[in-house]
Amino acid sequence: MTEVLLEIKDLGIQFKTGEGVVQPIRGVNFSLKKGETLGVVGESGSGKSVTSLAIMGLLPEKKSKIVSGSIHFNNQDVTHLKDRQFRKLRGNEISMIFQEPMTSLNPVFTIGEQLSEPLKQHKKMAKKDRKEAIINILKQVGIPRAEQIINEYPHQLSGGMRQRVMISLALLCDPKLLICDEPTTALDVTIQAQILELMKQIKSEKDMSLLFITHDLGVVAEMCDRVVVMYAGEIVESAEINELFDNPLHPYTKGLIDSLPTNNTRKSRLFSIKGQVPRPDEIGKGCAFANRCPYAFDKCIASAPPTFSTGEHLSKCWLQEPERQVKIQ
Ligand code: SF4
Repeated sequence: MTEVLLEIKDLGIQFKTGEGVVQPIRGVNFSLKKGETLGVVGESGSGKSVTSLAIMGLLPEKKSKIVSGSIHFNNQDVTHLKDRQFRKLRGNEISMIFQEPMTSLNPVFTIGEQLSEPLKQHKKMAKKDRKEAIINILKQVGIPRAEQIINEYPHQLSGGMRQRVMISLALLCDPKLLICDEPTTALDVTIQAQILELMKQIKSEKDMSLLFITHDLGVVAEMCDRVVVMYAGEIVESAEINELFDNPLHPYTKGLIDSLPTNNTRKSRLFSIKGQVPRPDEIGKGCAFANRCPYAFDKCIASAPPTFSTGEHLSKCWLQEPERQVKIQ
């Protein structure tokens, strides 16, 4: 049996806001096996980025609190790890690639200086070895002129090249887990395809698990073995990738699939799910998707559905309770 690298159980996170305390993450459960690529998909406001920040130990300390559940990484409970202890894991065993490299790369340091830091901190490498390791990793991610690029600043590179630098930064210390938060959203379509191809290639070469966070089910289809769908701070569906596309069990997932462009829809208007993800303070006692759901019925308004399972395929929707089992068309 494949070993589990990351396990999240019943995770609940609260935030303090000007209007009071809200809970954007409500009982999230999922696991990631060693060597697996798991997609976490949902619209903005679904809670996927907050979940990834919790895994990285990067939740704002004064404003947020983990109020339930646990996060285990590589058999270690990291739920309430102090920042000092987390720093040993971050950039070393767990790395993250963000959407916009300019927010993560420091504009006043050269590429070489920025890539040097994790090797100094985590690997205690000598200066000469660091330079060699940096040039190697830049070449691995397809950066031409690696020997010159190390002396350049982020603003001197194109968006695609900056994202490749970010990927090399994340891979420097051979992490066990790489979290990619919308890594290609800010890039144009051609560069996006190149970066996804590069990530697939790196994934096959290194013994690493990938957590792919995106609003784009098309990217998930390209990259992932399994997917969890998040809505309003909960997991509403999870399944193996082909099963999810062939047989979605939650109306929200079906809406996301129908929103994907196909050759036939190129000229016509794309389907989109009406309305928006509710804010945490707007969620009532029923299903959080009820006001956008074409299948909603009385029970959905009265109480929130539990998670129903059909083998490994999980769905949080009353349509899947055993006596109902409605097929989503
Ligand atoms: Fe729609 Fe009801 Fe299922 Fe919620 S529980 S997704 S409202 S059918």
